[in-house]
Amino acid sequence: MAKSALDEYAAKRSFTATPEPKPDVSAPDTGPLLFVVQQHSARRLHFDFRLECDGVLKSWAVPKGPSLNTSDKRLAVPTEDHPYDYGSFEGVIPPKQYGSGEVIVWDCGVYSPDEGNETWFHDRPEAEKRVREGIEKGKLSFLLRGEKLKGSFALVRTSDKKNWLLIKHRDRHVRSEEVTGQNRSVLYGVAG
Ligand code: MN
Repeated sequence: MAKSALDEYAAKRSFTATPEPKPDVSAPDTGPLLFVVQQHSARRLHFDFRLECDGVLKSWAVPKGPSLNTSDKRLAVPTEDHPYDYGSFEGVIPPKQYGSGEVIVWDCGVYSPDEGNETWFHDRPEAEKRVREGIEKGKLSFLLRGEKLKGSFALVRTSDKKNWLLIKHRDRHVRSEEVTGQNRSVLYGVAG
């Protein structure tokens, strides 16, 4: 079988037992790229930060969740690529399954790389190329248009090469209070 970006995702899960989406790479789309942050009440509560690129969601687990405070540098540990459809997944991963616990869509919206204050919301090929290159070189600056997360952020790979940091850039969306305190789903507003 051809190697797919989602092989690792598939290998970790049993789709007869988990309600999570099957490992399908989505067809090329048009329009802005999607970002999603899921609150995952697994053994340890954490937030999964995902950026659409090349038909999948590039993913990082952020133990403390994102922050709108520029002095916070939030640890972001890369995890396996997730299917595009995972971006709207909410539900409970059953006991004994990988990542068992409740998942809600904590925030979502569109994003674009924003190096040099330029954005590519309406140029998907260029946006994806810049995201690909940014991930490769370990430094990606991007603008989020979500409900809770807005403005410019960076994901920067640390010198140990394994971990990344999620950092808010200074702009008019900076806040000092913990945005993770807003703990409801943006899709249904019922959980949390
Ligand atoms: Mn997770």
